[in-house]
Amino acid sequence: MNIRETTLSARIDGKAFAADVRTHVADHVAELNSEHGITPGLAVVLVGEDPASEVYVRNKARQTRETGMTGFEHKLSAETSQADLLALLARLNADPAVHGILVQLPLPRHIDTEAVLAAIDPAKDVDGFHISNVGLLGTGQKALVPCTPLGCLMMLRDRLGSLKGLNAVVVGRSNIVGRPMAQLLLRDDCTVTVAHRHSRDLAEICRGADILVVAVGRPGMIKGDWIKPGATVIDVGINRIEAEGGKTRLVGDVDFDAAARVAGAITPVPGGVGPMTIACLLSNTLTACCRAHGLPEPDGLTA
Ligand code: NAD
Repeated sequence: MNIRETTLSARIDGKAFAADVRTHVADHVAELNSEHGITPGLAVVLVGEDPASEVYVRNKARQTRETGMTGFEHKLSAETSQADLLALLARLNADPAVHGILVQLPLPRHIDTEAVLAAIDPAKDVDGFHISNVGLLGTGQKALVPCTPLGCLMMLRDRLGSLKGLNAVVVGRSNIVGRPMAQLLLRDDCTVTVAHRHSRDLAEICRGADILVVAVGRPGMIKGDWIKPGATVIDVGINRIEAEGGKTRLVGDVDFDAAARVAGAITPVPGGVGPMTIACLLSNTLTACCRAHGLPEPDGLTA
């Protein structure tokens, strides 16, 4: 088998997986609608004109509509005061048509991000960043879970079935990815190591991993000989690097070609974790809606 074939055989197709999740969500939304007359609603709040955030918000709004949910878009000027933003969140918290609220980060500097996240009703906190959800996840209780690690977990469960007893290494300890990822893997009975910028001999730590999740933000940092043969590698990193002809391209934190020769399975960048993140935002909105109405949650879409 040549290298290209080996690479392809190890690929986890996040794009296709995300499409399946969206179909699953859409089916459930249609059922909620026909059987209970309920339509899940997701409110997305964008403050300012950050171009990358605008693209994310547009994609989120489009996919929300495509799954049959209602999307509420709130675009506020960069000068919006914190008080006005908090007042909007209070209205969305009280609105029964809104089941999920997402405030696109980063926020302008004059706004206290923690105060804003704390003002979202935890039951509508589809990003899973509210301290109540962080605490619930950390204590193994039912929570709304951050979308990126939830997407990673879904792909791992799909690939490996039970994760029980496996050695999992998470590189990166951010509140958005690394920490909740570690909690989710612990909850699925992995033995979890969390590595970060101060960890000693990262290569050796990674070599012990049956599951390696990397969320650092350094292009190609994880080398092929850091991977245990047969390991499942989830590359969360998104890095834009210079390419030929003055162009740029996206790469992950893992040296994909080298790692794919050793790994049992690996997510590419782009087309791996990225598409799953928005799909999980939709599934979290559906989950929040089901919980709000005391209805059973859809299978396979929660942690
Ligand atoms: P962050 O900057 O908040 O955290 C980075 C983490 O990496 C830190 O915990 C730090 O300790 C660790 N780190 C830094 N240098 C290191 C080193 N040399 N060795 C070991 N650990 C080191 O970043 P984040 O928000 O967690 O994002 C990480 C990456 O994932 C970024 O590339 C980001 O763009 C990407 N990301 C992708 C998605 C997605 O949907 N695919 C979502 C969120 C983040």
